[in-house]
Amino acid sequence: MDAGTRQFPLVDMHCHLDRMTNARDVARGAAKRNIAIFCTTVTPHDAELARGFLSDMPNVRVGVGLHPWWLSDGRCGAADIERVSQLAATSPYIGEVGLDFGKRGAVTQAIQLEAFGRIVRAIAEHPLRRRVASIHAIRSACAVLDILEETGAAGPGAPAGTCCIFHWFSGTSDELARARKLGCCFSVSEHMLKSKRGREYARQLPLDRLLLETDAPPGLDAPYSAEALEASLTRALAGIAELRGINAAELGPLIARNSLALLELTGWA
Ligand SMILES: [Zn+2]
Repeated sequence: MDAGTRQFPLVDMHCHLDRMTNARDVARGAAKRNIAIFCTTVTPHDAELARGFLSDMPNVRVGVGLHPWWLSDGRCGAADIERVSQLAATSPYIGEVGLDFGKRGAVTQAIQLEAFGRIVRAIAEHPLRRRVASIHAIRSACAVLDILEETGAAGPGAPAGTCCIFHWFSGTSDELARARKLGCCFSVSEHMLKSKRGREYARQLPLDRLLLETDAPPGLDAPYSAEALEASLTRALAGIAELRGINAAELGPLIARNSLALLELTGWA
């Protein structure tokens, strides 16, 4: 075990920490439990706020996000698309962004495609030494992959050090194969393991592309706890370990190492 995985054996790669009403307490509690958190935000305004009030938390990385649901229901619009694209051009941490062509987003595909396309183009055109993006894709994995490919944000011509993560992947096995080919990673929650397809994907994904997430809290703008984050991550790890026939104590450090490299927390002590 290296210094990074000793320091943070569990890493939550998709967590709406900033929308917990006690976010700072949860972040501190997580640090005591040696948990690092990729805080994914749902609007660029939230991202800018969270960058402020979570900036002194050494175990937290704040992403710049624009969740497709916020575009679908009109809570966000053109000004937010403009702002998130500007922020994405300089931020090493992007998320939650993506496309939702399921029930909640089916009639707003055009604005979602515009927003996601602009964000991904900003990433591709402004390469950074390291960048990580957490992507929501409901009934839209193919469209997400098309945009990643067309813009060059993923695949052979992608900027070195850029990693696109499918959060809670629910596409087809052909889309999974395509995402793997493009070099994407996959964050798996205990919820994903409740479906047969989710379990099958968790069993077959390459170990070096596998990450953990909680997608907590279950409802935004309510209190949550570091204990609940730890319990959810531990259940997800145990579930994946069982599916793969590996000891969780062996699998945990491998997954943590993937995450810590992406968040540049390796060796932090
Ligand atoms: Zn989320």
